[in-house]
Amino acid sequence: MEAFYTIQGEGSHTGKAAYFIRIGGCDVGCHWCDVKESWDARTHPPTLTDQIVSDAAKYAKTVVVTGGEPSMWQLDYICDELQNKGIKTHVETSGAYPLTGSWDWICLSPKKTKLPTEAIYPVAQELKMIIHNKSDFKFAEEQAAKVSENCVLYLQPEWSKREKMIPQIVDYVMANPKWHISLQTHKYLNIP
Ligand code: SF4
Repeated sequence: MEAFYTIQGEGSHTGKAAYFIRIGGCDVGCHWCDVKESWDARTHPPTLTDQIVSDAAKYAKTVVVTGGEPSMWQLDYICDELQNKGIKTHVETSGAYPLTGSWDWICLSPKKTKLPTEAIYPVAQELKMIIHNKSDFKFAEEQAAKVSENCVLYLQPEWSKREKMIPQIVDYVMANPKWHISLQTHKYLNIP
């Protein structure tokens, strides 16, 4: 769908310069999704993977593959080509489909509308739960029970509800310190 060089705004790698590759196509259907234009892959003309990789190599040593939902696609080739160029491969996925590709960092962000496949829980290095309302804390705990003990746990306010939910998230993390707070810092910085 698009590719751009920016700063990773969320989660464990916040603040790191990275080249983002946004893959079109998603059928997970989060009502608060901030990239709904990504949902229909047919509206985004395909780009040759070799072109994407050579563009990425001009900018960064870290690539973040996001979407849309990357797990809907076969990603072995793009990961191999990026890693052959010494580029770290990060992915942001809901885990709704079996994940292909070789990843240096897997950020799993489960969604209630289409739960992750079981295989992704043990390999996720970061669990990022979006908090839109109070019931999302319960869902976050259910998902945290399924990842490995080394997986870093994040609660991130859904952007449109941030003023309401940030105080609740702060209280929750102080009461449950296994969790960390993630904010969409790129939105505060006014960058993509
Ligand atoms: S999984 Fe991501 S891209 Fe898909 S609807 Fe949800 S927030 Fe949007």
